Amino acid sequence: MPETKPERRTVLVAPAWPYANGPRHIGHVAGFAVPADVLARFERLRGSRVLMASGTDEHGTPITYEADKQGVPPREFVDHNSALIVEDLRRLGMTYDIFTRTTTANHYRVTQDLFLKLYEKGYLVKKTQMGAFDPASGRTLPDRYIEGKCPICGFDSARGDQCDNCGNQLDPIDLIDPHQRGSDAPVEFKETEHFFFDLPQFGDQLKQWIEQHDDWRPNVRKYSLEFVRNLKPRAITRDLDWGVPVPLPGWEDNPHKKIYVWFDAVIGYLSASIEWAAARGEPDSWKDWWQNDDAWHYYVMGKDNITFHTVLWPAILMGAGDLKLPDEIVASEYLNMGGKKFSTSRGQVIYVRDVLERYDADALRYYLMIAGPENQDTDFTWSEFVRRNNDELVATWGNLVHRTLVNAHR
Ligand SMILES: [Zn+2]
Ligand SMILES: [Zn+2]
Repeated sequence: MPETKPERRTVLVAPAWPYANGPRHIGHVAGFAVPADVLARFERLRGSRVLMASGTDEHGTPITYEADKQGVPPREFVDHNSALIVEDLRRLGMTYDIFTRTTTANHYRVTQDLFLKLYEKGYLVKKTQMGAFDPASGRTLPDRYIEGKCPICGFDSARGDQCDNCGNQLDPIDLIDPHQRGSDAPVEFKETEHFFFDLPQFGDQLKQWIEQHDDWRPNVRKYSLEFVRNLKPRAITRDLDWGVPVPLPGWEDNPHKKIYVWFDAVIGYLSASIEWAAARGEPDSWKDWWQNDDAWHYYVMGKDNITFHTVLWPAILMGAGDLKLPDEIVASEYLNMGGKKFSTSRGQVIYVRDVLERYDADALRYYLMIAGPENQDTDFTWSEFVRRNNDELVATWGNLVHRTLVNAHR
């Protein structure tokens, strides 16, 4: 009988990048971390050539806002939080091949190269819009950091993005007596010029591509097709002094305009692969994953990140033209507590590091895989966590392993 050599698959495992705003809680790692690590270990065991590449996502206004509140520069804030996240993931037993950051020189270069490629191909359009600024710092104010009277129902503390009283979506400029959230500091509106990624140019291609993937989980297809139905040009730059510089004359040296964080963050999968290849002395080997139709790409995330991976990142890849599109999108539902989402601000949270002070990483990993939010939102309870571990992991599996080892020894 002729021997068939199994094909050695080339596999990218791309876990979503944790945002560098604090330590990870168990809801986070139920989505991006543990399922990705199980997948990577499984693929390695079956002989695949696996690259699991990720890092911390470190730009954007939530970072500058929190850093300002703590009175530290954004760089110091993300250095601190990136280190905390690395420690959480290390203790959780994650086997990343590379875990880097979006603040590296390599990431800036790869992001700027892609920006220029899309620009040269006519996928970026320039537009003028009204932007909201803090007159004291000159910084842009995100919609949700602006408050005022609702122009529709008169509610006193409507937010710039919506009114929680009447539920209407708002524009900050429509608010009566707008001021900054949590203070009486004024808001200034002025015209500002930005680049937009012309997503509608990719609408048909995206729709066809998503519809082809009938193997994706229903939640993934549903969110993605809904998003694709209403594609609008999406701002790719913003008024902020923290981010990747816009690589164009007149923009590059402007300290107040940067590339929008959503764009640079999704490029991390590619830039991390390039960094990994360079670090092992084979600088072109990233192409085996990204310019090879036989490679297989898994993206792993919580459901709040689906459309970044099924619409926005694929549109960038389609625009670039010579990079591989995602194959499998593994999106978890939410892990909740008492029926509510984990929330750091409300103190409704269980940190990974606190669980790992008392339990083995395998206990948490086992629980998240066997009882985690794979197909529906799932409530975490300590009693279920303990029961699963004692009854299943220790009693059933532990006994099986013990008996097998004893028999093997005889
Ligand atoms: Zn209202
Ligand atoms: Zn107010």
